[in-house]
Amino acid sequence: MSTKKFKTEVQHLLDLMIHSLYSNKDIFLRELIANSADAIDKARFESLQNPDMAAEWEIRIDTDKEAKTIKISDNGVGMTMDEVNTNIGTIAKSGTKAFMKALEEKNASDSDVPELIGQFGVGFYSAFMVADKVEILTKRAGSSEPAVKWSSSGKENYDVAEAEKASQGTEVTVYLKEDMDEYLSEWKIRQIVKKYSDYIEYPIKMQVVKKGEDDKEEISEETVNSQKAIWLRNPSDVKQEEYDNFFEHLAHFGKPMKTIHFSAEGTSEFKALMFLPEKAPFDMFTPDNARKGMHLYVRRVFITDECKQLLPDYFRFVKGVVDSSDLPLNVSRELLQENAKMTMIQKNLVKKLLSELKKMQEKEPEKYLAFFKEFGKVLKEGIHTDYTNKDKLQDLAMFESMNNEPGKLITLKEYVHTMPSAQKDIYFITGESRNMLENSPHLEILRSKGFDVLFMTDPIDEWVAQSMNEYEGKKFMAVGKGEIELDEDTAKEVEEKNKKATEEHKSLLEFIKKHLDENIKDVRFSKRLTESACCLVGDTYDPGAHMERIFKAMNQDMPKTKRILELNASHPLVASMQKLYDKDANSPKLGEYAELMYDQAVLTEGGMISDPLSFSKRVSDLMVNALS
Ligand code: ADP
Ligand code: MG
Repeated sequence: MSTKKFKTEVQHLLDLMIHSLYSNKDIFLRELIANSADAIDKARFESLQNPDMAAEWEIRIDTDKEAKTIKISDNGVGMTMDEVNTNIGTIAKSGTKAFMKALEEKNASDSDVPELIGQFGVGFYSAFMVADKVEILTKRAGSSEPAVKWSSSGKENYDVAEAEKASQGTEVTVYLKEDMDEYLSEWKIRQIVKKYSDYIEYPIKMQVVKKGEDDKEEISEETVNSQKAIWLRNPSDVKQEEYDNFFEHLAHFGKPMKTIHFSAEGTSEFKALMFLPEKAPFDMFTPDNARKGMHLYVRRVFITDECKQLLPDYFRFVKGVVDSSDLPLNVSRELLQENAKMTMIQKNLVKKLLSELKKMQEKEPEKYLAFFKEFGKVLKEGIHTDYTNKDKLQDLAMFESMNNEPGKLITLKEYVHTMPSAQKDIYFITGESRNMLENSPHLEILRSKGFDVLFMTDPIDEWVAQSMNEYEGKKFMAVGKGEIELDEDTAKEVEEKNKKATEEHKSLLEFIKKHLDENIKDVRFSKRLTESACCLVGDTYDPGAHMERIFKAMNQDMPKTKRILELNASHPLVASMQKLYDKDANSPKLGEYAELMYDQAVLTEGGMISDPLSFSKRVSDLMVNALS
């Protein structure tokens, strides 16, 4: 036998479980049953290749009123010594850390904890909410390695040793704490199983006491769950409460905001049950999104819960089950990747989801808005990655805009249908936050004309924007890039003014361009500005300043793209600089002012100036001059 120490974070977690005052302790049973069902799923899958592993699959619950124990057993895969040590002893999973952090942040109240336990995959440890000791006896299916006994009182250490066990599978024995007798009661166990584990497709068996004839007590064995795979039932026979429970089994926390249950017939035959969750999981944006959304079954046999091919990434928040009747049963996980039938299924699921979302958007706009606020950032990725469905995804996307109050989201349709008749294009601007964008000089002329501008403030929007070329025949136009196209009357007026100014200030423009050569590729008079003196704009196909900042934040190098400095022909600064230039073309002040203009333009778009010290020195000098 050897005694090992738990990792520090596991100790913390255990400490929390042991001392928890949380009210809903019932969920420990749900978690242990779920682990057993997972273990049988795995064994059943492996048994397709290795028939020796096949068994009459079952989960058992046994209580011992004297010893005050409740034991959950299964004949699933079991674990080897190594597996016990990695899966139970040390957990390398990021889940534990994230769980502890969430607890601290939330200042966890009673009701949060069961949710969090499920969400972060620390289910096994929840046994310590009711136990002062837990024992595991386990034997790996299809392996010649000896069985293993693990035990711990949830303090610093656990013991592991080789042991005897005749058959494959796992027994978890929970030694109940003093005041936890209720979990010995048949009624209580039934109630918990019914509530949380009824849909589990393996029988959950227990010994029950029945009054027989002449009032004699008889002991018999009973299956306490109904075992009905909920997705195979007729939707009209399933209550929402049953769906909710099943959702909790899949997602481990929260409720679904929408349930989509349907069957596909024809070229591809399958049943699907999909849920849009109410709340996003904590790891929605981590690359190895630990908890996958969709489970794949083939004719009721669990195949995998890591099936990336079932839904595209931009639907990774969808939870559910697909049960196919035409995939081969012994399909390997690798094979799934290039299976034409899988592609068909995916197409079908995506189509269904998109049409359900559209329906929700039209019929239940409030609900849709709540959905979009939670998952819009992910859904929008599809505009960039799924060319076939781009139009539908554009319809579903929503944005803030300049002419609407903060927080209000509008669709592209709403934008286009409220455009003044003089406006030709759809204007948008990308940046970190609404606050910053609102002050952008790029918006000035559009604001003065009453044209609306979409604010695109999610990091993904940079990519989304690149993929959106047109909506209802209207072009998308980045207000910070290229020559902005205005309505004809304004365009003519501004162009004439700028042409005149360009002739008048030819020498000054040349000077500025030469002086700022390292930072800019051109200087010109602006069609955008009505108030500010200057701003920076990119060429139409250059990456924007916001894109550069995103790459920088991801620690990725991106070659610096020089941009164009635009000046406001009506701003007095231009005339004053020209005057100075005419008086003394070699004045050192000219260069200083040009630098200041450039830095100002960088600052107004939320950028970082490269030399803040020189900038502030120039500003102070200016102030001194102005004051004296
Ligand atoms: P999760 O189930 O989310 O992975 P748990 O804390 O519930 O997290 O379980 C940790 C791990 O312990 C499981 O992933 C599994 O590898 C192993 N395990 C737990 N219970 C069993 C069991 N009954 N049979 C086989 N392995 C198990
Ligand atoms: Mg578990």
